[in-house]
Amino acid sequence: MHVVVCIKQVPGTTKVAINPETNTLIRDGVEAIINPFDENALEAALALKDKTPGTKVTVVCMGPPQAENALREATARGADNVVLLCDRAFAGSDTWATSYALAQGIKALEKVDIIYCGKQAIDGDTAQVGPGVAEFLGWPVITYVRKLDVEGDTVKIERVFEDGFEKIEAPLPVVVTVVKEMNVPRMASLKGRMRAKKEQIKMLTAESAKADPNEVGLKGSPTRVVKIFTPPKKTSGQKWDGIGDPIHAAKTLVGKLKEQKLV
Ligand SMILES: Cc1cc2nc3c(=O)[nH]c(=O)nc-3n(C[C@H](O)[C@H](O)[C@H](O)COP(=O)(O)OP(=O)(O)OC[C@H]3O[C@@H](n4cnc5c(N)ncnc54)[C@H](O)[C@@H]3O)c2cc1C
Repeated sequence: MHVVVCIKQVPGTTKVAINPETNTLIRDGVEAIINPFDENALEAALALKDKTPGTKVTVVCMGPPQAENALREATARGADNVVLLCDRAFAGSDTWATSYALAQGIKALEKVDIIYCGKQAIDGDTAQVGPGVAEFLGWPVITYVRKLDVEGDTVKIERVFEDGFEKIEAPLPVVVTVVKEMNVPRMASLKGRMRAKKEQIKMLTAESAKADPNEVGLKGSPTRVVKIFTPPKKTSGQKWDGIGDPIHAAKTLVGKLKEQKLV
């Protein structure tokens, strides 16, 4: 079996700047980490490999050259192959263009059975890329997965809701997006770290992934983020303790509301 994990590098801090022209994040010089949900996706793939001999895990990331670090970490934890989709043409991609580029990159690999994504990225937060990749590949997608077993050509899945879970089956190949409850990500071994240092990262450009240059980057992105801002901090407000004299407290409150022309 061949499983692919999509991992995204995200800022490891909330102190990030926004490019005022493109309304995209300025990632240069910002400490980057693997998106936490993608660590669970990677762990799920590695656990499947441990359980099913012959399984190969390929990790794919679209990002700038510094995303190599995330891929080396994936190798250190046990990934067999790592692929970086890296090209200026990809810069500024929205979820549509990101999903398309990842799908094209995955098509360039040998036959894939399962694609694991995180539930969502903690910077963009859209949770659209997993389903987007599935759509571009024409595969089924199951989101919010907390348990996955492979039986023959079928996956048996538990999908979480706010107040419960549902059991679903789907034929392979399939895309799944995983939640934190799925597992606890493993640490890299010393042997893994040594291997990761020497690992040859497979690089794919838009051209080598056979991605249409008009469908990636800002040009291929239908979304326009028109404004990004930090909401103003809420003030602590005013409190009237009505326990001692509730009538006085109620009158004061009504007076204040009238002052503000709210009643
Ligand atoms: C504040 C902010 C707001 C944004 N708003 C929008 C918006 O409204 N619409 C829009 O289209 N774009 C938006 N973007 C851009 C968005 O970050 C990118 O499109 C991004 O590449 C993917 O979207 P996401 O981060 O929401 O990923 P999600 O869809 O939340 O990611 C889900 C999973 O997909 C996989 N994945 C995502 N990106 C990659 C990658 N580059 N490489 C490998 N795997 C990946 C991971 O497994 C991840 O866990 C916004 C960005 C920011 C910073």
